[in-house]
Amino acid sequence: MKSDVFYFTARTHSHDQSMSKFKAPLALKKIGIEQRIKNGDKVVIKTHFGALENIRYLRPSYIRFLCDFVKELGAIPSVAESCGWGVPESVSGTHTEYSGRATEEEYLKVALLHGFTEETMGAPILMLDGKTGEDIEIQKIDGRRFKEVLVAGRLREFDYLILATHFKGHPSGGFGGSIKNLGIGCVSKGGKAEAHTGKTFEIDFENCNTECRNCINICPTKALAKDLNNKLVFEKEKCKFCYMCASVCKDKVINIGTVTRDEFTAQMVDNAKGVVEYFGKEKIFCINYAIDITYQCDCTGGSDVPFVPDIGVLASLDPVALDQATIDLIHQSSISPHSALSDVKDLPTQGPYEWFSHTPRFDPESGEMDFSGKKSNHWELQLKLAEEIGLGTRNYNLIKVEIQSKK
Ligand code: SF4
Ligand code: SF4
Repeated sequence: MKSDVFYFTARTHSHDQSMSKFKAPLALKKIGIEQRIKNGDKVVIKTHFGALENIRYLRPSYIRFLCDFVKELGAIPSVAESCGWGVPESVSGTHTEYSGRATEEEYLKVALLHGFTEETMGAPILMLDGKTGEDIEIQKIDGRRFKEVLVAGRLREFDYLILATHFKGHPSGGFGGSIKNLGIGCVSKGGKAEAHTGKTFEIDFENCNTECRNCINICPTKALAKDLNNKLVFEKEKCKFCYMCASVCKDKVINIGTVTRDEFTAQMVDNAKGVVEYFGKEKIFCINYAIDITYQCDCTGGSDVPFVPDIGVLASLDPVALDQATIDLIHQSSISPHSALSDVKDLPTQGPYEWFSHTPRFDPESGEMDFSGKKSNHWELQLKLAEEIGLGTRNYNLIKVEIQSKK
């Protein structure tokens, strides 16, 4: 059985072929949004506001036009993101390339700087997992690595979800598309940490520094305290698994583990399964904006030259078919000069070619980025795992839609 994927090219000769105002809403119509959404339904548009220094995130007008379209359907739009892993810069005192996304307070400042406000969207903006990632729903799944997923809790407030995804590379999972927007974007802060590290959460009480209260001060749910003897006490039933305590423990008393790239990819896919099972597959509309396709994800401040030219907008009810189709179109393209892939020795410049096998990637062993371009098939692993776990199919009908200019 194949899934339909609708594709609109990035080629635009006049305003009535606009990707933001016309092609993206039409793509959603093609996948049946008009037949499902009723008057007064609450629709959340999940996108990514970009890390502080990132410049390749989706332009705000792409999302504004989706909000307007949802209103035309008689429904009520909101624009959403979720808290990033770790602690805010005001606590860590350290600026990193991932800075600016750890809490609602911190991330809304970045959103403002990047042009996402209630005024520019014409809709409320919210963090799906609350102010500090503490708003969660635990979804039980039969996953490859996880039996429980920390779904972002405020999804419970909505009838439908539009996944408005900037399609790009990802240094661990191979690429970031709709599967990642589900498995990282729609889980809580702690759900993101668990994708990257696993579910290890060990506290070495004996080696806790009696003078220190860092984790107690950061814990949003007061799950940590010291007793009269200055011994650390943990009340598990109060914990919402944000893992900020681990980030502030300088003495490495709280261990949340590490995983390989294969394990990360499987855990992200398990998370995506948890989100879909929690929210309902029939209530999720997926749209990939295959533009500004860098090897990095929007969570980092790095924003390299896109390694292929813009492809266009694609939509489907099936996130796996959608990501597969987007990758196939990217692989048919030729690589852009001055991009990271053009630096890789012995790589051709003309497509079709499996470019995502050679994009720079994170090496967990060295903790460094690897720019050598040596072959790595995590993009394919992500799709394979997602298909095997039942998120969708890699078989698709690509339906190219043209909008004729009225000019
Ligand atoms: S104990 Fe740690 S993981 Fe649990 S809620 Fe508190 S800070 Fe978050
Ligand atoms: S942050 Fe670490 S050392 Fe400090 S109180 Fe918590 S567990 Fe102990």
